[in-house]
Formats: sequence, C-alpha cells, structure tokens
Amino acid sequence: MKKFDVVIVGGGMVGAALACGLGNSQLSVAVIEQALPDAFSAEQPHDLRVSALSLASQKIMQSVGAWDGVIQRRACPFRRMRVWETAGDTEFNCDDIDKPELGFIVENRVIQLSLLECLGRFDNVELIAPGVIKHIRYNSAVNSVVTLQDGEVIEAGVLIAADGGNSRVRQAVGVGVTSWDYQQQAMVIYVETEYGQQDITWQRFVPSGPQAFLPLTNNFGSLVWYNSPDEIRRLKQLSGDQLVAELYKAFPDCLGEIKKVLGVASFPLKRQHAQQYVKAGLALVGDAAHMINPLAGQGVNIGLLDAAALAEVLVEASVKGENVADLNILKRYEKMRRNDNLRMMTVMDAFYRVFSNDVLPVKFLRNLGLGLAERVLPAKNKVMRMAIGLDGNLPKLARGIVLK
Ligand SMILES: Cc1cc2nc3c(=O)[nH]c(=O)nc-3n(C[C@H](O)[C@H](O)[C@H](O)COP(=O)(O)OP(=O)(O)OC[C@H]3O[C@@H](n4cnc5c(N)ncnc54)[C@H](O)[C@@H]3O)c2cc1C
Repeated sequence: MKKFDVVIVGGGMVGAALACGLGNSQLSVAVIEQALPDAFSAEQPHDLRVSALSLASQKIMQSVGAWDGVIQRRACPFRRMRVWETAGDTEFNCDDIDKPELGFIVENRVIQLSLLECLGRFDNVELIAPGVIKHIRYNSAVNSVVTLQDGEVIEAGVLIAADGGNSRVRQAVGVGVTSWDYQQQAMVIYVETEYGQQDITWQRFVPSGPQAFLPLTNNFGSLVWYNSPDEIRRLKQLSGDQLVAELYKAFPDCLGEIKKVLGVASFPLKRQHAQQYVKAGLALVGDAAHMINPLAGQGVNIGLLDAAALAEVLVEASVKGENVADLNILKRYEKMRRNDNLRMMTVMDAFYRVFSNDVLPVKFLRNLGLGLAERVLPAKNKVMRMAIGLDGNLPKLARGIVLK
C-alpha cells in the first residue's frame, strides 16, 4: 500500500493546479487521473472546449510555474469585451484599468497539459495515470483508502475530490448537493472566419438565451449558442452550410463572414453546489464542489481559486506542524471559498434571468443598467475588475505570492 498526505482524484485543470500549488511543499501528494489528454501540436485544429481565463487564473498559473507552458502552446489574449442587446450595449476595455489584457481564451487541454507538465518538476508529487478507481473507503476517523482497478491500494491523509461535476469521490463520501437544470443547453461551435480574429469577446442577450463569440488564434473563433434542448437538437442535425445560414440569422452581422463550421458539441446547463466542501480528511474543489452557468465563463476560474486557497491552507498548516486532515484546518479553506462561490453563482443566475427575459419592465431595467454601466466609469470598472478576478478575497497564489 502506498501512503500519501494528500491524494487528489482528478488531474483536470483544477486538480492539476492544486497539485502544482502543493509542489515542493513538505506534503507527499498523489494525483489519480483516469485519462491523460493527448499531446499538443500547433498544427492541430483548436479543441472545442475552451475557457476564458481571468487575470487571477493567469496569476495562479504563473505562480505555480505553468503559464509559460500555456503561452508556448496556444492562447488568445482579449483586450475588450462587448456586451449588448437590443437597446443598450457596453464595452469593457483593458485600458480603463491599466492592464495589457482582460484575459485569455485557452483550450482546456492546453491548460491541463501545461499543469501536468509542471507536476513532473516536483519530487513530492506523483501522477498516477491512467488510474481507474475501483473502490473508495472513507472514514472520518482514519485515513481514506482508494483501490484502483489494477489492484493498487493508496492511502490518503486528505482525500481531494477534483473529479468534476459527477464526482465519484463526492458520492462515495456522502456529500449532498443542491442542483437544478436550467432547461437550456449550450452549443459550442468552432468556426473558421474570413478575417483574423480581433482582441475582443462578444456577448449578446436575446430572450432564447445568451450568444457569445470568443476569438481563437488566427482565423478561428468559438461561438456559444444557448437555447432550448429541442432547438439545439435541431441545430445539431443541420449540415455545415445550413448551420452557417442559421448563424447568420441569429448572430449579429458585425461578427463578419463565417467560412466554415469545423466542429460542434452541446452541453446541458446545470447549477450544482455541494452542501459542504470539507469533512475530516476530505475536501472538494472545482466542479466537484460547484457547477455554475457558463454564461460569463467563470467555472474554471473559481475552480482555480479553490485550488489556490486549498493549497495555501494545506501548505501553511504543514509548515506549522498541524495535522492537515483536521476538520478545523480544512474549514479554513471552506471559509475562504464557499460563500464567494455561492455569491458568484447567484450573480450569474440573476444575470441569466434578467437577460433571458422579454417582459417589458425587465427589459427597460436591463437597458438602463447597460446604459448606466456605459456612462458611469467607476461602476463599470468595478464590474470589470470583479469579472477578471482583480478584486475580492484572493488567495496568495492569485496575488502572485509563491507558497513556502
Ligand atoms: C459550454 C461550457 C463553456 C465553459 N466555458 C468556460 C469559460 O469560458 N471559463 C471558465 O472558467 N469555465 C468555463 N466552463 C466551465 C469549466 O469547463 C469547468 O468549470 C471546468 O472544466 C472544471 O474543471 P475541473 O478540473 O473541476 O473538472 P473537469 O474539467 O471535469 O475535470 C475532472 C478531471 O477528473 C478526471 N476524473 C473524473 N472522474 C475520475 C475518476 N473516477 N478517477 C480519476 N480521474 C477522474 C477527469 O478525467 C478530468 O480530467 C464552461 C463549461 C461549459 C459546459
């Protein structure tokens, strides 16, 4: 049996970031990942799964040493964000807050690969992949035991659920969730465009749901189209040319000519929040703890903040000689993150309901809101700073402080 202070189940973006945050600490760490991502090559087309990384996420990646890996692979910075609907619109510009950019659109696989590559530099971290879990035994009074399909048995001082929205660990240890479906799906469409993409993300709100256009490198872009499951099913059955015709009808003309649809996928939208983030010897991070409406692209950003906060709590406790599996220690992490995440989920919900609504007074108010946001610069800058992770209760790694 192998024994580790910390065992992270899930080496996705959040689990791998947590492991990097614990790199070079006094803690022995294992990451169990069931399927490693394919290697990256610049000739490959962009993946369908991309994320808008905030500046806080960039800082976390820099602090743990994984940002260079992202830049060397592929990332598209954006300097402006345009949000609009029928009567009002507003543009956020990085110049207003004296930053070189507002964030980066990066393929999820690029983020994950850069973090996993970084893990290789730490003597105290072992990556077990592919590692398929057969059984999890959790008991708050003793170490957890994870048994893999190949017979390997791993003992964990602290077991971490970083295994996504359907977290097996969360279910095995009996942490409940509150959740509901939005009765909508998000269709992601990877397109080739006539012109090279600019440094701007577009988001438009129509009653059937939000629409977004994210720039990728060169002449490529990623569209996100929210609609009812029935409508998304219909759209997915269309040929490439038919879908382009639908895109011209639904999306604004100013986005320019779409030459070709290169890939399509759809995702059901769900809000889900774990009733607790910690138990003795256990912590949940990322989508295992929360799933948020992706309309403002915050899911992995708040997940990376979880990883940074938990790494900080564990490293500081181990330096002081405290027992990192102790519930009171782990509660420090829950205190740092749960309310912030709940607030972000609530704001996204309010946003979603106000903007996907065709009732006249609501329309009037939101247009007023957008108009005000456009004219009142301090308010606009405040919203922008929050969205890109410059304000709020940021963990050390998100402020560029390396953990010791
Ligand atoms: C359409 C859409 C667009 C989005 N856009 C954005 C965006 O722009 N910005 C943003 O911040 N967020 C965005 N999100 C959300 C973001 O994708 C998620 O929040 C993010 O992927 C969560 O990362 P994670 O590492 O917690 O979980 P996951 O990405 O789900 O990773 C979990 C990892 O655990 C592994 N795993 C699972 N089960 C096991 C097991 N039993 N044993 C071992 N390993 C296991 C998996 O293989 C995987 O590697 C979007 C989501 C959707 C649906």
